[in-house]
Amino acid sequence: MTHDRTVDPLFACEGEMARRMAEHDWTGSVLGRPEGWSESLRTAVGIMLRSRYPMILSWGEELAVTYNDAYIPTLGAKHPEALGRSLADVFAEIWDAIGPKQRSVLAGGPATWDEDTMFVLERGDGPEEVFFDFAYSHVPEPDAPGGVLAVVTITTDKVVLARRLALLNRLSRAIGGTDERDEAIRTSMRILGEEAEAEIAFAAVYAPDGDGGLRLLDGVGAPGVGQPALPATLSLEPGHDDPYGVVRAYVSQVGTTVALDAQPGDGRARMAATQSLRDQLNDTPSGVLVLAPNPLRPYDPSSEEFFALVADNVAATISDAASRAKEAERLEALSALAAAKTAFLHNVSHEFRTPLTLLLGPLEDVLAGRIPHLDTAAVESMHGNAHRLLRLVNALLDFARGEAGELELQAQAVDPRALTEDLLQSFRPAIDRAGLGLQVDLADVGPVMLDPLLWEKAVLNLISNALKYTLEGTIRLSLARDGDDVVLSVADSGVGIAEDELGHVFDRFYRVARSDGRSFEGTGIGLSLVADAARLHGGAASVTSVEGEGSTFTMRVPLVPAAADQPAVLAASGARDALIRDAMAWAGTDTDDVTISRVEGSDQRPCVLVVDDNAELRSRVARALSGFADVRTAHDGVEALEVIDASPPDIVVTDVMMPRMSGVELLIRLRQEPATATLPVVLLSARAGSEAATEALAAGADDYVTKPFTTEELE
Ligand code: ADP
Repeated sequence: MTHDRTVDPLFACEGEMARRMAEHDWTGSVLGRPEGWSESLRTAVGIMLRSRYPMILSWGEELAVTYNDAYIPTLGAKHPEALGRSLADVFAEIWDAIGPKQRSVLAGGPATWDEDTMFVLERGDGPEEVFFDFAYSHVPEPDAPGGVLAVVTITTDKVVLARRLALLNRLSRAIGGTDERDEAIRTSMRILGEEAEAEIAFAAVYAPDGDGGLRLLDGVGAPGVGQPALPATLSLEPGHDDPYGVVRAYVSQVGTTVALDAQPGDGRARMAATQSLRDQLNDTPSGVLVLAPNPLRPYDPSSEEFFALVADNVAATISDAASRAKEAERLEALSALAAAKTAFLHNVSHEFRTPLTLLLGPLEDVLAGRIPHLDTAAVESMHGNAHRLLRLVNALLDFARGEAGELELQAQAVDPRALTEDLLQSFRPAIDRAGLGLQVDLADVGPVMLDPLLWEKAVLNLISNALKYTLEGTIRLSLARDGDDVVLSVADSGVGIAEDELGHVFDRFYRVARSDGRSFEGTGIGLSLVADAARLHGGAASVTSVEGEGSTFTMRVPLVPAAADQPAVLAASGARDALIRDAMAWAGTDTDDVTISRVEGSDQRPCVLVVDDNAELRSRVARALSGFADVRTAHDGVEALEVIDASPPDIVVTDVMMPRMSGVELLIRLRQEPATATLPVVLLSARAGSEAATEALAAGADDYVTKPFTTEELE
C-alpha cells in the first residue's frame, strides 16, 4: 500500500484493515469521519491496527465495531460487513453470552479474562464451535462511555487437539482389557459414547453376519436431527438412494483401509466417516466402523487423520481381544493335553500293576512253598499276563512314537479282505463268549498298497472297542470299495457316545469319563492310533454315534491298487494276541466265581466279597482267600451293591478303578447306608504312595493294598 498524503496518518500502516478503514465511507456511521474521532478512539484504533494480536474494538453506547487483520478469521464470512456495525448485530447468535460482559466493562467495570470458552458461531458455513481466550478492557474517554477493546485468541486447535489426544489415549488404554471380541467392541463404543457431542456425534460398529452382509453390533450417540436411525443390517449391494448410501457404498468395497465421504445433510450429521476395521492378525476386514464427526466441526484433513486413528485403535482393541482369545485357547488346549497325559500315565500304571500282580503272585506262592509247583492253568495265566504287559509296552512305544511324530507308513501289497477276515477270526471267540451277534460283509477290493501293521492296529482297536463298549446286541463289520476309496466300518449296538464327547474320541489320551463298558481298562490312545493310521494312508477316520444306541466307526483311505503279481502279505503280531486275551477277559471268564464260592465252609468261616473288573485278578484274590473264607465275587460296584443287598458279607475287598461304579464310590455308598456303615472294606489299588492310601482311608476304607500285592498281604 502506498502512503500518500491524503491518507489519515492513523491508517498509514501495513494491512488490509488499515486500507479498508481508510477507504471506508464513514459518513452517516455512528462513529462519524475519522478526523472527528476523539483522541481516545484514535489512540485505541492506532494501537489495534498496528498489532499482530487479534483485537476488536467496540465503541460508544452502540458498540460500533472496528478490528484488525489478525481478527479477520474469527469473523469468517461476517468480514468485511462487520466494520462500523454494532457488535450486538455482528454477534447476535452469542450476544446473550457476551453482551452483559461488554456492557459491564463499557460502564467502567473490571476487565474480564476468559479461557477456552466455546461459542457456536455462524461464520457463513453453518453453525460451528469455536474456542476463545478473550480479555475485555475499558478504553476510557472524558465525558463519554469510551469503548471496549477485546483481545482475542482462537484456541480451537489447542482444545480440539487435547480432546482428541485424550480420546485416543482412553481408547488405547482399553487395549488388553478383554479376550472377548464383543466386549472389546462394547468398551470402545462406550468410550466413544462418552465423547458424543464433542469429537464424535455418533459411532457404530457393523460386523459380518456370516451371510455376506453386515449386522449392527453396537452404536452410541444418535444420528443427527432429521437423519434416519442407522439400519440394523447392511447389505453389500451399493445403493445410493439410501440416506446411508455412503455407508453402503463404502461397505461394498470393504478392504480399502480408509474411506471418508461427505454427506451433505441438514447441518447436523453433515459428514459420515466410515472406516474398515481390519483384523490385524489376518489382515482381513472384520467389520466397519461408522463415525460421524461432530457437525459443529469443519471436516478437514486433520479430522480425517483423527478418524483414521480412532478406527486403528478400535481395530487394535478388537484384534487384541481376538489374539488373547486365541492364546487362551492355545493354553487351554495345552493344559488339556497335559491333563490327558497325566491321566494316561495314571491308567497305564494301573494297567501295569494288574498283570504284574498276576505274574508275581503265583511265582511268590511257589517260592514261599505255599503251592508245590505251577500248574498248566497258572502258566497259561502268566503267559497271558506277560503278553498283556507286552501290549502295554507297545502302547507306550506307540505313544512315544506318536509324540515324536515318528509313526510312518510302510505300505506293501496287502489283501485287506483276507487280513481283516483273519483278524476277525481271532476275535470271534471273545465276541461269542460275550453273547454278541456278528454281521460281516467284507467285499473283495483286490490287492492294495497298505501298511499291514497299521491296518491291523486300527482294525483290532475298532473291534476290541466295539466289544468293550457293547453289552448286548450286534457288532457289524464291513469292508467295501467306495469310488476311489477303501472303506472299513465297525458298527455296534453298544453304549454309544454323547454328542459333546464325539468330537474328542480321536484325540490322543481322550477317554470318555464314564462309560458303561465291559471294562474300565484302557489308555485313550486306541482311537488316536486309528486316526493316525487313516491319516498316514492319506484318508480319515470318523464316527457317528447315538448315546445308548450304538456307534459306527469308519476308516476311509484312498485305494492304491497293488501290482497283480505282488503277493498279498498277511501280517501277524504279538500285539494281536495280547489284545485278544484282554478281549476274552472283558467278555467274561467267570468259571472262578462259581468254584471258589463253593469251597466247603462252616458257619464260622467268614464270607468275603471280592470286587474286581479283571476276571483273572478276581480269580486270584478269590483263590488266595479261599483257604480261610467263603468267597463271592462281583464285577463292579453296581453288582457288588446287589450282592451285598441280597446277603451281606463279612468283609469286602474291592478294586478301585472299575466301570459303572468305582471302588471308592462303592465305599461311599456303603458308608451312607446304616446297614453297611461299619462293613469292613479293603481297597486294592494300582496307585502307590501314601497320598493314595490317605485318600482311601479318608473315604472310610479299613485297609488299603497296593498292586502288585502278594498272597501274604491279602492274608
Ligand atoms: P480307550 O483305551 O479308552 O478305549 P480309545 O482311544 O480306544 O481309548 O477310545 C477313546 C474313548 O472313546 C473311550 O474311552 C470310549 O469312551 C470311547 N469309545 C471308543 N469306542 C467306542 C465304542 N465302540 N462305543 C462307545 N464308546 C467308544
